[in-house]
Amino acid sequence: MKPDYQAISSRLFAAYPVLKCALHFRNPYELLVASRLSAQCTDKRVNIVCEDLFARWPDAPSLARADLAEVENVVRPCGLFRMKARDIVAMAAVLEKEGIPETLEGFLALPGVGRKIANLLMGELYDAPGSVVADTHCIRLSNRLGFVTDTKDPVKVEFALRKVVPPEECMKFCHALVHHGRECCMARNPNCEGCFLKDLCKEYQQKEDGSWNISK
Ligand code: SF4
Repeated sequence: MKPDYQAISSRLFAAYPVLKCALHFRNPYELLVASRLSAQCTDKRVNIVCEDLFARWPDAPSLARADLAEVENVVRPCGLFRMKARDIVAMAAVLEKEGIPETLEGFLALPGVGRKIANLLMGELYDAPGSVVADTHCIRLSNRLGFVTDTKDPVKVEFALRKVVPPEECMKFCHALVHHGRECCMARNPNCEGCFLKDLCKEYQQKEDGSWNISK
């Protein structure tokens, strides 16, 4: 079953009309730092930690000169705190010297920034067409709905979605997948019976032929 992007996206956009990044930020520096801290951590926790972090180090120059042990203490609740503290301090030093990047490649060159964060930044800061943010929800739902087959590789998901999603809708569609992944299509025990996409969902349709095996 080939996924019907038009039908799926129009239902998602109708269900989730307000779509925006769950991380709180007031400027590109804050979004960069918050998105680096968000790996394997909830956005809610990152927002709490960042309140303290940005009160102490409100810009790149101050964070670049921060004591690493103090930064580690502040970001500890986000997990992987040593690596994250090291990355955001190093990132701040580059930002101070070179400013905020304006291209995907520029973001990818920053310490600790991978394709997910780089695409998020291009989409959020510059409204760049084709910004596919392949996070855990996007990957899971892309598999279940049938946009990809049996892959957890974020790069494969990113490129597969870019083939079917109009460039100007990529960011919006990814945000919608995140909402649906949190509210209905959870990793464990998705609410398939109550899901407004079930007639369009590859995995749900497999119920019909008895090969139902929900992917996590
Ligand atoms: S039918 Fe189930 S697996 Fe498919 S999108 Fe809805 S909740 Fe997810």
